[in-house]
Amino acid sequence: MVFEEVAPYHERRDRARGARIVGRPEALRRIERLSDAVWRAADRLFPVRVPRAWFDQIDPDDPNDPLALQALPDARELIHGAEDLNDPVGEQGLQPLPWLVQKHPDRILLLLTRRCHLYCRYCFRRTAPHHAGPEDPDDAALDAAIARCVAARPQEVILSGGDPLAVTDARLFDVMDRLRPAVPVLRIHTRAPITAPERVTEALAAGLRARAPVWVLVHCNHPRELTEEVRAGLTRLVDAGVPVLNQAVLLRGVNDDVETLVALCEALVALRVFPYYLHHTDRVAGNAHLRVDPAAGLALHKALSRRVSGLALPSYVVDPPDGSGKIQVERAVAEGKIALHEPGGA
Ligand code: SF4
Repeated sequence: MVFEEVAPYHERRDRARGARIVGRPEALRRIERLSDAVWRAADRLFPVRVPRAWFDQIDPDDPNDPLALQALPDARELIHGAEDLNDPVGEQGLQPLPWLVQKHPDRILLLLTRRCHLYCRYCFRRTAPHHAGPEDPDDAALDAAIARCVAARPQEVILSGGDPLAVTDARLFDVMDRLRPAVPVLRIHTRAPITAPERVTEALAAGLRARAPVWVLVHCNHPRELTEEVRAGLTRLVDAGVPVLNQAVLLRGVNDDVETLVALCEALVALRVFPYYLHHTDRVAGNAHLRVDPAAGLALHKALSRRVSGLALPSYVVDPPDGSGKIQVERAVAEGKIALHEPGGA
């Protein structure tokens, strides 16, 4: 499998951003088990970018630290099996325009940027087909994407990326305003409230509120991600009247035990964030060491259902490689879209 190297572009940008991102030399000094060679090799395939606040929470002596597993490069990322996929959720053939993905007639995904505040090592868009090329659409590409959405008049446009909150409020609000009134419901799929909670300002919350109905879907995988700053940001959104839901990803060694999932889901409900989805990890090249076997995931979900209220129980879903869109894991197995025991899972 051949991958294009995309990291140097991101590296240049990150250097300019300064102290909020932890640089490689500092990370290598503080976490002895990290390897310079692995960091550089992993970074060439998919950029390594760890916000300082996230990094500071990592226990440098714990190789199984759940925050480290999600964010720091690992030698196992460099091992790509024959069963691994470049396009694990079948998006490549469903792009009517470069920054759009459409799997359903009533919904369109608009990718506002390829940038993220933290590049999750398991990301389903971690391969070159998703991550090569410019980080942001130029004006002409963005205009064309918005025009296409307006003409199609779907029920929902989902602003995604990358992380749509990696763009400025001005750009975000401008895009949202141009989609209205043709698109009744807007969604923002973002990990920024978790990885960069300072991004959730009063101004952002008020701007989203002013553009209701806007649904915000965040991405939190472990209760330790819910720091005081993260809780404050989520509360700002909810207090502003913005509905907030969570989409967790089931990750080996991070949250594949019932106690962690109970703690996560109950903490989210207490914050008035609905634990909407537990995602089965997509079979992308470079994340095999973080995948959970579907059979184990189903057993875990069953155990979770016995422990939490209906309000705290996420649906266990998968976005299968055939591009047909998200469905329950149980149904995906029954319909042969994924196997009960997947290659690379454990
Ligand atoms: S925030 Fe989302 S898009 Fe960005 S790296 Fe993480 S999983 Fe991928």
